[in-house]
Amino acid sequence: MYDIIVIGGGAAGMTSCLYALRNGKKVLLLESESIGGQIATSPRLENFPSVKLISGEEFADNLFNQIIDLGADFEIEKVTGVEKTDGVFTVKTEYREYKAKSVIIAAGVKHKHLRTKSERDDLVGKGVYYCAICDGAFYKGKEVMVIGDANTALQYVLLLSSYCKKVYLYTLFDRLFGDESLQKAALAKDNVEWVKEVAVTDFIGDTELKAVEYKDKDGNIHYHEIPAVFVAIGQIPDNKAFADLVDLDKEGYIIADETCKTKTEGLFVAGDCRTKPVRQVVTAVADGGVAATNASVYLESFK
Ligand SMILES: Cc1cc2nc3c(=O)[nH]c(=O)nc-3n(C[C@H](O)[C@H](O)[C@H](O)COP(=O)(O)OP(=O)(O)OC[C@H]3O[C@@H](n4cnc5c(N)ncnc54)[C@H](O)[C@@H]3O)c2cc1C
Repeated sequence: MYDIIVIGGGAAGMTSCLYALRNGKKVLLLESESIGGQIATSPRLENFPSVKLISGEEFADNLFNQIIDLGADFEIEKVTGVEKTDGVFTVKTEYREYKAKSVIIAAGVKHKHLRTKSERDDLVGKGVYYCAICDGAFYKGKEVMVIGDANTALQYVLLLSSYCKKVYLYTLFDRLFGDESLQKAALAKDNVEWVKEVAVTDFIGDTELKAVEYKDKDGNIHYHEIPAVFVAIGQIPDNKAFADLVDLDKEGYIIADETCKTKTEGLFVAGDCRTKPVRQVVTAVADGGVAATNASVYLESFK
């Protein structure tokens, strides 16, 4: 039996582990994909206090090593459900079940997929991508497109423009919504072209992306031949596995305030998967600290 099971190995989940372990708790971290979550896919983290610049991957690796050194157990398994019976939580994964006195959900958010008229999900990974740091290097020296207008899109532009021949930034509106410094840096690049007020309507290609169909502001349809598109149009939560024990808002975020408590005693939530106004690394790690501290206080009731 674990004291605390943490679901999700992003910034919030790993910080939850850090605080729980330092409180002397026996902790299991369950991560469905790979360690680090979203920030591990970011080439540049420049707004974490006291760290001028670090890659998201290095940030995640440091945090992971920190919790493993403190004794966290870790498994790559996707959690499919959580139940509570007689005060004990059962956390079900694809392979087995684990028991714990307390659980922290830190399942983050996923990339929102661009809906196009032909719904070519088969081209994802074959020219259509959602993570530039993971897949950008395949297109070194080539022309690529980024779709999106906020920080993630701008970070993708900066990374891709450092080794691609040209980067086209396609945006729905005639303005960008990312940080001023990122906007300036991205638009200062000679090989970046911003194409404003366009809506990408389809991905075209047999087995690989060949072109993008898009509509301009007057409704005219155009085609842009391009081998790779990186989509950064926002994120959505996926909290269905926990819906029996928590309340979800209409977008699917777990309803909780700054205490990180859910409606189920002993079940806490941290990071981007909960209702909150600002989804960033600083707020995710803050939640991790709060959730693990409150879980540790809750565990006192077992003594
Ligand atoms: C490209 C990019 C750049 C960014 N740049 C910045 C930046 O510069 N500064 C900044 O502050 N923020 C940035 N952000 C936002 C920041 O990364 C997030 O706000 C923060 O990392 C959220 O952490 P989290 O732990 O709550 O969630 P996530 O990072 O989403 O981690 C959740 C983890 O849970 C796992 N998981 C989900 N469901 C399950 C399940 N059922 N079972 C097991 N595991 C599960 C996921 O695989 C994931 O690893 C960026 C985000 C992106 C995508």
